[in-house]
Amino acid sequence: MKKRSRLISAGRDPRQQHGIVNPPVYRASTVLFPDLDALEHASRRPFEGVYYGRHGTPTTFAFEAAMAELERAERAIAVSSGLAAIAVSLLAFLEQGDHVLVADNVYGPTRIFCDNFLQQMGVQTTYYDPLLGEDIKYLMDTRTRVVFMESPGSLTFEVQDVPAIAREARAQGVVSVIDNTWATPLYLPAIEHGVDISLHAATKYITGHADAMLGVINTREEYFTRLKRTAVTLGNCPGSEECNLGLRGLRTLDVRLERHGRTALQIAEWLQGQPEVRRVLHPALPDDPGHALWQRDFEGASGLFSFILNPVSRTQLAAMLDGLEHFGMGYSWGGYESLILPVDPPSLRTATQWEEPGQVIRVHAGLEDPEDLIADLAAGLARL
Ligand SMILES: *Cc1c(COP(=O)(O)O)cnc(C)c1O
Repeated sequence: MKKRSRLISAGRDPRQQHGIVNPPVYRASTVLFPDLDALEHASRRPFEGVYYGRHGTPTTFAFEAAMAELERAERAIAVSSGLAAIAVSLLAFLEQGDHVLVADNVYGPTRIFCDNFLQQMGVQTTYYDPLLGEDIKYLMDTRTRVVFMESPGSLTFEVQDVPAIAREARAQGVVSVIDNTWATPLYLPAIEHGVDISLHAATKYITGHADAMLGVINTREEYFTRLKRTAVTLGNCPGSEECNLGLRGLRTLDVRLERHGRTALQIAEWLQGQPEVRRVLHPALPDDPGHALWQRDFEGASGLFSFILNPVSRTQLAAMLDGLEHFGMGYSWGGYESLILPVDPPSLRTATQWEEPGQVIRVHAGLEDPEDLIADLAAGLARL
């Protein structure tokens, strides 16, 4: 079955629920066992099937089954946010004295988790140049347990050589993890590229409406119990309503992403022609440094990218941003609406230098009419 059909059929079976198209939302803490045998049997395998609300409900399992099927992962584990997916994936494999390699362009809170929580645990983080491919092997030593990727980076959009890094990690017995939020399983089949763990902030495109926090970890069978035990031990569980919203969002993910992607590229190309714009950071543009890798490994581009203005004052920047009509200013992305955010790459990297002068601005292209969005940005640039 093709991916787009899997999006529609995965995680539901109307015959099992009176012919009703969607699975019900189960709200649960207590699960009753009919007898002592059943209780004891369930206690021996607490990570499979219903056991207690914290371990998941049939709604959770339906969302997980759909995510796993979509990315051709053997298993999926839903958690309460994208950051929880990151924290659980790292904590499951790291102990005191261990070493983790993290891409230097990683999502800010991932860096904060490594620099604070992991550091306190006695785990050492080395940030690496995201453009490093198979040379990642020279940074691995006997203490290295995990290599963490994010491609493209969600602020500066460098594309990593994901298959090469996954291959080197596998060769050294190191677990490879990717934050695959930008591409979703539709546009980067990370597990098929050899990555062990592909995690997603389902908060973004998967739920798709800026109304839920949700994360998911897609992985191989051999890592399932370890990851699930970590999530359960930390008391991390997503709400049933959120899992249902994730499942619901999946059904329209393909059509939404296609439009987000098309509009983003249209805006990116328009920005390239504007005198106020120094450079556009979008891997689907033919002159982007990451274009060749993007074309080789990805099956599409979503709606998030950045551009760099020629140097401006804060007053000029405020004049541009404050008057926008369609672009809201705020964190997150992946909902139906357009967003814009000034970002500061130098403050978020340590292994590499950010040498571009000028303000970096991140754009999320929503589902509005692209002409309205371009007119809004044109008026913004005029206010500069
Ligand atoms: C938003 C985001 C996260 C975190 O997701 P939350 O659900 O907000 O915790 C992780 N990675 C990337 C790339 C993100 O954009």
